[in-house]
Amino acid sequence: MILYNSLGQTKQEFVPYSDKQVNMYTCGPTVYHYAHIGNLRTYIMEDVLEKYLRFAGYNVNRVMNITDVGHLSSDADTGEDKMLAGAKREHKTVLEIAKFYTDAFFADCEKLNIKRPDVVEPATNCIDEFIHMISVLLEKDYAYIAGGNVYFDTSKLDAYYVFGNMNEDDLAVGVRDSVEEDPNKRNKTDFVLWFTKSKFDSQELKWESPWGLGYPGWHIECSCISYKHNGEYLDIHCGGIDNAFPHHTNEIAQSESFLGHKWCKYWFHVLHLNDARGKMSKSKGDFLTVSLLESKGYDPIVYRMFCLQSHYRKPLTFTYESLDNTAKAYEKLINRISALDNSGEVDQNKADELIASFKEAMDNDLNTSLGLTCVYDVLKADANGATKRYVLGELDKVLSLDLLKAPKETTASADDALTAEIDALIKQRTEARANKDWATADAIRDKLSAMNVVVVDTKDGISWHFAD
Ligand code: AMP
Ligand code: ZN
Repeated sequence: MILYNSLGQTKQEFVPYSDKQVNMYTCGPTVYHYAHIGNLRTYIMEDVLEKYLRFAGYNVNRVMNITDVGHLSSDADTGEDKMLAGAKREHKTVLEIAKFYTDAFFADCEKLNIKRPDVVEPATNCIDEFIHMISVLLEKDYAYIAGGNVYFDTSKLDAYYVFGNMNEDDLAVGVRDSVEEDPNKRNKTDFVLWFTKSKFDSQELKWESPWGLGYPGWHIECSCISYKHNGEYLDIHCGGIDNAFPHHTNEIAQSESFLGHKWCKYWFHVLHLNDARGKMSKSKGDFLTVSLLESKGYDPIVYRMFCLQSHYRKPLTFTYESLDNTAKAYEKLINRISALDNSGEVDQNKADELIASFKEAMDNDLNTSLGLTCVYDVLKADANGATKRYVLGELDKVLSLDLLKAPKETTASADDALTAEIDALIKQRTEARANKDWATADAIRDKLSAMNVVVVDTKDGISWHFAD
């Protein structure tokens, strides 16, 4: 399989550390609010990657953290802890907020057919491990204490900006317009491993440590949780592209300094979902959730298909128009599949050939849109119904679009309602014409044409069909 690796910024052959075992790590959600559909784009594409690796014969151990402490309002070390801000907003405790939004996140994942990772670990479960890793970093002189906090010393590294393509002046902490420089830092790129003194002393959750009562920085969480469950060698680390800097850059700094050797081989970053205002983000106030889409009548799987239609390394813009197009395409697809007969025996040679084209698409840097085209190719293939159904079932192990489910009952009733609406409009138009009310007749004709309806006057009366 060829995958784009942010480390090296090239497409590379995927070769895990040990033969068929893949140790995979995913940055989990910060559980202070609902996940928006941008966050979920990242988790959908990571889910496809995990499932495809399994499909390709690898044994995958996928680990995900739940960030329930330490992620400050800025990804740098400034601002209030997001969890605390969430708790204040809802007049609840941090742990109540964490439980509520962790459950909500997994409920959304279930609706989107996102598999739960093999290990899910909340950061607040691992305080001893964080303290251990920070102590080793201090012993090895990669860290220092200043102003009551423990900092990672980035000047000790041979290279800090490992993902390249970064303009230090634009990105480094302390030079962003809105970020105040922390006078305790020896270098502007240093970051906090453990806080005991912060401007925000209202932090609800604090733990004893050799450096005083405090709480961990966000970056150390992922380094430790990955090490705890995946060991010293990580094959692939995933996240949204905004995590590449500073979060993943800092994870590499900590993990490799702690371990004394190279840590993660491949970095898989998903580009952002944008809306009309740019990157979808929780700080912008109202944002789109799976529940909101459902309340507007969309099946969450339609959103999954919408994501699969484009490549994970391209930014994706969300509009309701494009989601509507996907909804129509999905409905047609499910109807076509359900109309397949179950005739004949599975022709294994034919099936292997169809599955091989799917693999070819996915092996090329997880080309999911081409993978979806393969679904249509299966329907068009010269094969019996049993073979087509079998192949679709195999492809759906990766795509998870419920391809073999029966079409929704509601689809039929929605169709009925639409037909009734069109019939009623045509009747009103006929009456308007009979009354020589041309303005009304024209308005109804325009409405019908906006609905893609073609009205035909025949000698037997009026008939209609949808335009192609
Ligand atoms: P958070 O809950 O903020 O820690 O983010 C969870 C995941 O969503 C991370 O991997 C982020 O990089 C990713 N993410 C955040 N915003 C977007 C977006 N607009 N589109 C895609 N992924 C995103
Ligand atoms: Zn992380």
